[in-house]
Amino acid sequence: MQTIDNFNFAGKKAFVRVDFNVPLNDQLQVTDPTRIRAALPTLKKILSDGGSIIIGSHLGRPKNGPEDKFSLKHILPTVSELLGVPVQFADDCMGEDAAKKAAALKPGEVLMLENLRFYAEEEGKPRGLSADATEEEKAAAKKEIKEKQKEFTKRLASYADVYVNDAFGTAHRAHASTALIAEYFDADHKMFGKLMQNEVDAVEKVLKTAKKPVTAIIGGSKVSTKITIIKNLMTKVDNLLIVGGMAFTFSKAQGGKIGNSLCEDDMLDLANEILAEGKKSGVNIILPTDCVAADKFAADANTQICSDKEIPDGWMGLDLGPESIKTMSEVIKNSKTILWNGPAGVFEFDKFAAGSKALAEAIAAATANGAFSLIGGGDSVAAINKFNLADKVSYVSTGGGALLEFIEGKELPGIKAIRGY
Ligand code: AMP
Repeated sequence: MQTIDNFNFAGKKAFVRVDFNVPLNDQLQVTDPTRIRAALPTLKKILSDGGSIIIGSHLGRPKNGPEDKFSLKHILPTVSELLGVPVQFADDCMGEDAAKKAAALKPGEVLMLENLRFYAEEEGKPRGLSADATEEEKAAAKKEIKEKQKEFTKRLASYADVYVNDAFGTAHRAHASTALIAEYFDADHKMFGKLMQNEVDAVEKVLKTAKKPVTAIIGGSKVSTKITIIKNLMTKVDNLLIVGGMAFTFSKAQGGKIGNSLCEDDMLDLANEILAEGKKSGVNIILPTDCVAADKFAADANTQICSDKEIPDGWMGLDLGPESIKTMSEVIKNSKTILWNGPAGVFEFDKFAAGSKALAEAIAAATANGAFSLIGGGDSVAAINKFNLADKVSYVSTGGGALLEFIEGKELPGIKAIRGY
């Protein structure tokens, strides 16, 4: 497989799919450039080799063609500043202007295309169908957009000699610029960008080539959104720590009294099945034994420590108790590979952040001791940042949905398009 480090971009034009879907304020200024920064190593490598770049991205979810608030022109100053070179702009990714500007790029120059999702062809889903469209009309619209998508993809590919995918955040989408475009480049001329490569390497270090013992910490609010992950991890980990709101469904399934704690009653049987499967396959599933219970869901709630199975009526468990923290921290510190997805409590409120903080500290300690640790999937990233421990773990993923699907064991179209699996 071709890699970005081995490829010499001198005199080549690279179409680089990035994820510049950054948050903007009311004045349409970038408020958090993390995603732009994340793509800089790839962009800089191409420029320093003497290549030129055509940047493709989406921003937001435009559903009806061009809309000013979703225009990538708003982020142009930030991209230029961070990259350290002026960036040209084509205000229509398909127009004559885009083709001309791409063709005229000289080594060291950069062109950014307008939001790819201004065209329905990017996602390949029909737009503007009336609510009472018949099944035949829907099928015809689908067929039509798929045909148009081929033309769109071919045209994007025609701008460049090389395709680089650095948009891990959209790797789970089979869109024109994230996957389909790869078809138009031979194996030597398509590759992951550095961010994408790092993300893939980090996940595979946990799922495929992990050093034992392997510990996964799965938390957050709902069992239902994590069930596929848990099932996939059951064949790969030694220890599975179940924390956060979802742990109470397990507690109730085992006959615990959980008061007003979060619970998915339709998941009780499944929770017991997972525990039974853990016993059968030798996975050490660890549930909390105590919790910080609150009399309301609020930052200023009254609290008490109680057993996870004996929460008083009217109270709800919002964080791990001290005994659970101790047990779980020990397991984490003795691990050689650690995956953390989903907070251990309502860490957004300081009163209920101690559990997540303690687990984050244990992960940092294990990492200092040589373990590989991957943190990812939305709120656990926010938690590790809140505790200022992001630089004390091995890898913090930038991917939300893409990371979750990867850990679920699914094939991601953006990855498959480049390496074939
Ligand atoms: P998820 O999006 O499913 O990963 O869930 C993340 C959310 O779960 C965070 O906003 C946490 O505040 C919340 N959470 C964690 N523990 C609990 C709990 N014990 N009760 C209610 N919400 C929780």
